[in-house]
Amino acid sequence: MDGFGALVRTCARSALDFALPPRCAGCGTIVPDVHSFCAECWMQVEFIGDGGCDCCGLPLQATEQSTCARCLAKPPRIARSRSAVAYDDLSRSLAVRLKYGRKVAIARTMAHYMASLVKPERESILVPVPLHRTRLWTRGFNQSALVARELSRRLDIAAHPMVLKRTRRTPPLKGMSALQRRKTVAGAFEVADKAAVVGKTIILVDDVLTTGSTAEACARALKRAGAARVELVSWARVVKPSQLMR
Ligand SMILES: [Zn+2]
Ligand SMILES: [Zn+2]
Repeated sequence: MDGFGALVRTCARSALDFALPPRCAGCGTIVPDVHSFCAECWMQVEFIGDGGCDCCGLPLQATEQSTCARCLAKPPRIARSRSAVAYDDLSRSLAVRLKYGRKVAIARTMAHYMASLVKPERESILVPVPLHRTRLWTRGFNQSALVARELSRRLDIAAHPMVLKRTRRTPPLKGMSALQRRKTVAGAFEVADKAAVVGKTIILVDDVLTTGSTAEACARALKRAGAARVELVSWARVVKPSQLMR
């Protein structure tokens, strides 16, 4: 009965999403196009785009070619990182509402702006950065898995939300140094289904990219399990103002 009730609620919610006029995910005003920002919010959003270093996506210095000096010196495990927008009040409010508010509509808006940054290959699969199961129980869903599902629909590539597992609960990384973050998340991820990743290009999906230590720990587990390449696409990225491309 419970499952049925949930199904009815889900259907009612989808019908509602469908019947109501599309609204801007930033401010709630009615917009002509589904899952997009209104003109005012659009002006306010710092889109990061697909330029910058081939690898990390950050802006290149005048002396750098296609890969930045940092990535050349120490190639990251994530071969390609892309984020739709810079992390600020507006993009943060979307990330928060993805967790607690109109989840499906917000996930669709994010996927709308993230899809063009993904360059799927034949052997690509989408893998959301997992939550620990205790957090999954309390929240009831993984916000990155919702975004991965919407990206999967748009790009017609498979999403595998169960492939990667978080084996232990990690404390919030906020306020930690890069080294502390790396130590905290090291070994926190495990591949649950090796057959699904061997030889594949894994596109990790996350909501907010901060220093990338969580994504790197995921990539480490995926590579060890035989993934050919690991990429990352996130909704927002914490960037210094000097790192914005204008
Ligand atoms: Zn708006
Ligand atoms: Zn780079």
